[in-house]
Amino acid sequence: MGSFKLGGMTFGSLFKKPETLLYPVQTKEPYACQKGHVLNNVEECILCGMCQRVCPCNCIVVDKKIRRWVIDPFSCVQCGSCVRACPTKCLSMQPQCTPAGDAKYSIDLDVPDKKAAKQEQA
Ligand code: SF4
Ligand code: SF4
Repeated sequence: MGSFKLGGMTFGSLFKKPETLLYPVQTKEPYACQKGHVLNNVEECILCGMCQRVCPCNCIVVDKKIRRWVIDPFSCVQCGSCVRACPTKCLSMQPQCTPAGDAKYSIDLDVPDKKAAKQEQA
């Protein structure tokens, strides 16, 4: 590359918007199809355990007894297997990534018992 061309590029870059962001102060808008994290619409979850069985990272735990669905977002590799296997389609891949943190945590969701609620109403 000639020095004239290189100089032109350097000079031109002084007036361009930077290609980088000041992360974490600034973050990029996620793409619509980006596989960021798994979301469970627990209202539709039947605690069948299929997501736990297909997960290659063992990051989902389904406890039918206490009606709890737990995911470790830091072990998830966003493969989408759980989403595809879920029979009620209550799982979805959301484009936003799990925020960075200085400690690991799990997401524990209590799954409502629709049958029991109906019986109570009757
Ligand atoms: S596969 Fe779907 S319905 Fe079954 S436990 Fe997982 S989230 Fe719930
Ligand atoms: S997206 Fe893949 S790695 Fe993440 S919880 Fe689902 S099956 Fe497991």
